[in-house]
Amino acid sequence: MNKSTPITNGSCIDAPILKERGQREVFCGLTGIIWLHRKMQDAFFLVVGSRTCAHLLQSAAGVMIFAEPRFGTAILEEKDLAGLADAHDELDREVERLLARRPDIKQLFLVGSCPSEVIKIDLSRAAERLTQLHAPHVRVLNYSGSGIETTFTQGEDACLEAMVPVLPETDAANLVLVGALPDVLEDQALGLLRDMGIEGISVLPAGRADAMPAIGKNTKFALLQPFLGETAAALTRRGASHIPAPFPFGEEGTTLWLRTIADNFGVDAETFDRVTAAPRARARKAIAAQAAELNGKSIFFFPDSQLELPLARFLTRECGMTAIEVGAPYIHKGVVGPDMELLQTGTVSEGQDVDKQLERCRAARPDLTVCGLGLANPLEAEGLSTKWAIELVFTPVHFYEQAGDLAGLFSRPIRRKDKLELAKS
Ligand code: SF4
Repeated sequence: MNKSTPITNGSCIDAPILKERGQREVFCGLTGIIWLHRKMQDAFFLVVGSRTCAHLLQSAAGVMIFAEPRFGTAILEEKDLAGLADAHDELDREVERLLARRPDIKQLFLVGSCPSEVIKIDLSRAAERLTQLHAPHVRVLNYSGSGIETTFTQGEDACLEAMVPVLPETDAANLVLVGALPDVLEDQALGLLRDMGIEGISVLPAGRADAMPAIGKNTKFALLQPFLGETAAALTRRGASHIPAPFPFGEEGTTLWLRTIADNFGVDAETFDRVTAAPRARARKAIAAQAAELNGKSIFFFPDSQLELPLARFLTRECGMTAIEVGAPYIHKGVVGPDMELLQTGTVSEGQDVDKQLERCRAARPDLTVCGLGLANPLEAEGLSTKWAIELVFTPVHFYEQAGDLAGLFSRPIRRKDKLELAKS
């Protein structure tokens, strides 16, 4: 196996991090419901929130005409906001009505929001009470998707963290992959690992409540997304061991992620190479087709999805880009450390003071800026090419077969700008 070695001179793992705590421009954690409800086929997400929360969900998820949605909002009215007297009773009645109408629901998540946090509705107490009422048919859990001090990918982390204490116990040596990916990506990862001879693999979250993984002191887990730090901590508290690795973006990232797991399960080098050789070659070829346009270009990441550091590692090492600044909402070195060891960048920043960061971006004039929707249009108007960070979470970008598409997400805006400039001249 060809091991990629960390950069000994100039990697950002030990470089000082610029920490900012000012105004931020991010979506809230309710956004995660969009991909979580697609993954968990017998779950329902009931947001306890305002009309604003309901609008955010509907506009982000689109309106489903043929299927009953598996998310909704219990709207807090003004009288609820003024006092808590009836809020719990009303919530109980809403849940009663919902579960009577939808016997397919096996897991119900009460999702907190800014309004429910401000008026301090205790959703964990409500979840306990409702579980007692509706067990064993339905399990009720709660987490917060509030936009106060969160970023949009934290919703998934909070949801999975809430599930960890109720996962079954096991003494078996098993492997759990953690993160909600589309089925086609999950199947690719499971296929590669099983072809290496690794058995006892399961995924959190599973598609159905009765297929959730069991956890114990012989469980090892690998994260599929870099924003699952609290879930990792909860699994560790239950005795499971984290397998830290670079994230599976690009050919190198996927190979290192798989190899770290393979090493933990005693897979020999020959087997590893036999299983990965063909998809690695395909990934390298697909990336090369896109990298020609990225090579030598500069990139600036505003903090948003928490994918920033692993993606910067992919773009600098596999596509020849230069990272001017890589901003991330939070940096857990226990999670993204292996990516940071491989990454050379100008500045690493954590948190945000949006005006100051905009000044740095304007001064640097990067070829591509990755940012939230709110910043993209103003920056485009100033002549900077942008990529919406949220697209990186909604598009399948993990593992070998998607490596070319991942590079393509970054090359497209650059190509578009080149074409526009050509047309102008
Ligand atoms: S949770 Fe907060 S930020 Fe998110 S939609 Fe509701 S009010 Fe807005």
